Amino acid sequence: MNILVTGGAGFLGSHLCDRLIARGDHVICLDNFFSGRKENIAHLIGNPKFELIRHDIVDPIKVECEQIYNLACPASPVAYQYNPIKTIKTSTIGMINVLGLAKRCKARILHTSTSEVYGDPEVHPQKEDYWGHVNPLGPRSCYDEGKRVAESLCMNYHLANGVEVRIMRIFNTYGPKMDPNDGRVVSNFIMQALRNEPITLYGDGKQTRSFCYVSDNIDGMMKLMDQDQTIGPVNIGNPVENTMIELAQAVLELTGSKSKLINVDLPKDDPKQRCPDITKAKTILGWEPKVDLKTGLMKTIEYYKATQFGK
Ligand code: NAD
Ligand code: UDP
Repeated sequence: MNILVTGGAGFLGSHLCDRLIARGDHVICLDNFFSGRKENIAHLIGNPKFELIRHDIVDPIKVECEQIYNLACPASPVAYQYNPIKTIKTSTIGMINVLGLAKRCKARILHTSTSEVYGDPEVHPQKEDYWGHVNPLGPRSCYDEGKRVAESLCMNYHLANGVEVRIMRIFNTYGPKMDPNDGRVVSNFIMQALRNEPITLYGDGKQTRSFCYVSDNIDGMMKLMDQDQTIGPVNIGNPVENTMIELAQAVLELTGSKSKLINVDLPKDDPKQRCPDITKAKTILGWEPKVDLKTGLMKTIEYYKATQFGK
């Protein structure tokens, strides 16, 4: 198949490009390199099954394809708050452009939404039918509300125009190729530990997240795309929940680092807890994560050590 991957030079996108090419597909990777890195896809340059386009989805796109994976959007809070209006444009105007392309090409489209649509959830764990608890005016709203509009656009393109849409609600995912400087917690803690610098716990560190390893995420993404029904949003994440203190302790143990834990200010509207209910993914896709936290962290630590970043 001819498959467009927007955001293909980013963390998840670059893993997806590898997997699709390994399966025999032809991949058009489109990226504006805002938070993506050429290093993530450099090994694919010259592969006859791979094309790279520097383009911003906020501008209309004209390519031919049979499937579209829409990953273009910065995912780290630091990155998406850098230019909040641009983040909103990416999730709205960009989403309309990508859906318009899907409509014209009659391509099936998978959109990467997020657990952030649940905001600071009052229902725990989160099921797909929970409408969420998002502050529409807070610093995270450019991302959270943008992703909520993007979901609405997907459903309405499906209902009004028959576009085959897949909505994947991704919970915190980590692994090799995550930008070591993008400010997300797993990359921050590992880099701090490798440099024997203080580990920055935001707030008291008792807030929770559920961390999914990247290979499990990409398995779920491809299964969701390739099943034949438009089934509404599906949570893809690892239901094992950890506090940030527990994550820091695991990183210290696996790196053997001498770093100390320090507490710094908690960012505004930081969700207190987050854990996916993955019953829908299990039932419809036959998917569940396979990689436990320590195994995934070790692979990620090895990656950072093996690259310039661990030096
Ligand atoms: P990332 O920042 O590494 O990748 C995003 C990619 O999109 C980057 O390569 C970036 O340069 C590109 N991009 C951003 N804006 C663009 C635009 N306007 N036009 C073209 N390209 C653009 O993040 P990631 O972790 O790989 O996330 C991929 C997708 O998955 C995002 O949509 C994100 O919201 C979603 N997601 C990720 C997670 C996670 O834990 N990794 C969780 C929830 C949702
Ligand atoms: N966090 C932290 N220290 C850091 C970076 C993040 O304690 O150096 C916390 C952050 O406050 C949040 C959690 O880790 O509670 C996950 O943050 P991340 O930015 O990775 O993703 P989020 O789920 O908030 O989008």
